[in-house]
Amino acid sequence: MKIVGTDAPEVERALLSGGLACPNCAGRLHPWGHARERVVRHRDHQERRRPRRSRCGRCALTHVLVGEDCLLRRRDGVEVIGAALVAKAAGHGHRPIAADLGLTASTVRNWLRRFAAGAEAVRSFFTVLAHDLDPVLGALAPTGSAFADAIEAIAAAARAAVARIGLRAPWSFASAASGGRLLSNTNCPWAGAA
Ligand SMILES: [Zn+2]
Repeated sequence: MKIVGTDAPEVERALLSGGLACPNCAGRLHPWGHARERVVRHRDHQERRRPRRSRCGRCALTHVLVGEDCLLRRRDGVEVIGAALVAKAAGHGHRPIAADLGLTASTVRNWLRRFAAGAEAVRSFFTVLAHDLDPVLGALAPTGSAFADAIEAIAAAARAAVARIGLRAPWSFASAASGGRLLSNTNCPWAGAA
């Protein structure tokens, strides 16, 4: 899977012109049909989507093209997941967060656990990115929890990206920057990030 923009015609143009790179080997991706249809749950509506599938001309792996308003292997939009993460960083528990977002407690608990497991890698990655985007940014003050520090680092990088590159939804930025792997529970969640 590969994270791409949410403008479908623009993604299609990039794919057809060889402008998308393989997240595995950086080779050129070519059109390769479509993935099966899925429902994406946003904050206030649901959307049916049939993502494009691509195939690398070099390593021959296929990659479903996932919009940056989602994360890899998650049905809920990254804005929804991000809202849950921010609420947790502010001290709320998974049950009230789930009730507030209209989700099951087990779904939210799973997100929070996965994010907590990778929080230090997330904090480290987005802190470096924030300083790359804004060289005069000062040190980020520790909040007292690894979870909240990671959220603060994402927020700092997103603010720097807005200032440097222009308006963009903060959580879509976070998804694109991490290759959709914000909740990936691995030692190296950022390998292959585009
Ligand atoms: Zn490849």
